[in-house]
Amino acid sequence: MAEKIIGIDLGTTNSVVAVMIGDEPVVIANQEGSRLTPSVVSWTKEKEILVGDPAKRRAILDPENTVYESKRFIGRKYEEVVEEGKRVSYRVVADEKGDASFDIVNLGRKVRPEEVGAQVLKKLKEAAEAYLGEKISKAVITVPAYFNERQRQATKDAGKLAGLEVLRILNEPTAAALAYGLDKKSDVKILVYDFGGGTFDVSILEGGEGVIEVKATAGDTHLGGANIDERIMEWLIEEFRRETGVDLKRDRTALQRLKEASEQAKKELSFKLETEINLPFITIDPSTNQPLHLQKRLTRARLEEMIRDLVDRTMDIVKKALEDARLRPQEIDDVVLVGGSTRIPLVQQKIRDFFGKEAHKGVNPDEVVAVGAAIQAGVLSGEVKEILLVDVTPLSLGVETYGGVMTVLIPRNTPIPYRKCETFTTASDYQTEVEVHVLQGERPMARDNKSLGKFYLTGIPPAPRGVPKIEVCFDIDVDGILHVTARDTGTGKEQSIRVQASSGLTQEEIEKMLKEAQLHEQEDKKKKELVEAKNQLDQHIYNLEKVLKESRDKIPGDVVSEGEKVLEEAKKVFASSQDVQEVRRVTEKVLETAGKVGGYLYQHTSQKPGEGGDVVEGKPM
Ligand code: AMP
Repeated sequence: MAEKIIGIDLGTTNSVVAVMIGDEPVVIANQEGSRLTPSVVSWTKEKEILVGDPAKRRAILDPENTVYESKRFIGRKYEEVVEEGKRVSYRVVADEKGDASFDIVNLGRKVRPEEVGAQVLKKLKEAAEAYLGEKISKAVITVPAYFNERQRQATKDAGKLAGLEVLRILNEPTAAALAYGLDKKSDVKILVYDFGGGTFDVSILEGGEGVIEVKATAGDTHLGGANIDERIMEWLIEEFRRETGVDLKRDRTALQRLKEASEQAKKELSFKLETEINLPFITIDPSTNQPLHLQKRLTRARLEEMIRDLVDRTMDIVKKALEDARLRPQEIDDVVLVGGSTRIPLVQQKIRDFFGKEAHKGVNPDEVVAVGAAIQAGVLSGEVKEILLVDVTPLSLGVETYGGVMTVLIPRNTPIPYRKCETFTTASDYQTEVEVHVLQGERPMARDNKSLGKFYLTGIPPAPRGVPKIEVCFDIDVDGILHVTARDTGTGKEQSIRVQASSGLTQEEIEKMLKEAQLHEQEDKKKKELVEAKNQLDQHIYNLEKVLKESRDKIPGDVVSEGEKVLEEAKKVFASSQDVQEVRRVTEKVLETAGKVGGYLYQHTSQKPGEGGDVVEGKPM
């Protein structure tokens, strides 16, 4: 039997592991019997590592040594997250490479976010192994759609540290869409409303014929269930201060208990209309040395009042995503709920009011992303039969070639992963380096497209133009990362870069680029024709010039001077003409003259024109 591959939702607040058993995705409970594992790691003075619930319980008691929400820092440079670092209770510092790390006092060293992620992944891997009774070594892990290449790579590294080969990094909304079954529908648009513990994300996706396309994304990285817990906590602290005059903020143990009780009350109010928060012996009254107790009733209506602005903020973001996708609420076929905070009745009510229908209630919102990851894992292990093409390139990818033209290697809408190689050559004699300029877009001229990056392949042995063969390969992996390699086939020397194929482009920008390409189609076509005609002319000028120079003494003087005259005219046309017909006419003339000269040489020296000279292999760069 094929080895099982697990699907993991490595979340900001909680993580979940799932696996396909037969045709069914199954969420696996952890060692404590819980299907949700808090993404929290804590190190004790004895250097013991606690992961999940036991670690979460230490968050306020030992704030410096307990790392939560480490996902905010994975794959980030310290300078990018200075502000973010101020919001957490542990110390965020830069490591020797300038990457964000955590300074853990109890360990006496820095810990990278990958290591924290790895601890959570290891716990989930072990839970899966205990459940399945077999060793697990492969996984699919999900990340937010907006994660860049470094964040994705760091997530893969976390997997490796946990002893997992990460076969695929899957976008969270795509995973939710898979769990919903979007790949099996045609022409269906869904909106994924992901309201978790610390973040809020909206994605609009369209499915059809096995392809899932992300149409728009929007979000707020600091809006989640924790904000709601804080509101309840603040209310409790204020009420307690008013009643007893004691400030609970000064008592860490009290704060930890308040935090847990606030979250608990919030969750209960999703199912009940009223709840009681009961914290006996919450603190000691400093003036009387007597223990104090906290007891409060909280109603759902009161909670809703406290958090209405937070829920309204999520709806503003929904509106923005719809605007970006140019869709009206009625055009969304289903709203898929992700994240524990979507259980709040006020959230569901706002969605119902806005879209005019109930949100889709198929999969448990805490588990939907992990279930999607398990389905993808099942496809990779061969357990799930359908072929799922989950992503396509949104725009064409190519390189700049001679004359400023974009030469496409991978056309838009190509299902990924995909690999394509093409051979190019040099544009001038004795050129020892070529610039590989990677472009994205639909316009024929390089400058009208988006530049994704450039690099140089150096050390090409000097040779006439057109002789060196440079093989350029574009390789988009399943995670949407584009690897570009250029290799001089003569020497085997190579250079490469990696770029995010959809690097920083929003759906809006992609659409704008497509529109512009359409708008300029005719004029672009003309420009490209002219450049191509000129490139040809340039090549023939070069050939004629070379033959005249090398064989001057073997050709009668009048033929030489005729050749020179033609060359002079051709160079002028090459330099300044904007008329493709004129360029073609003069090219004919150059060819004719070359034929005359060549024919003459052939008769006298039995060397055919061009022989021993140029072989043009592909386009010059
Ligand atoms: P996630 O990041 O998706 O794991 O979501 C976790 C967040 O959902 C936490 O803030 C939880 O407190 C919250 N949550 C879980 N269950 C409920 C519930 N029944 N009602 C309200 N919030 C909940």
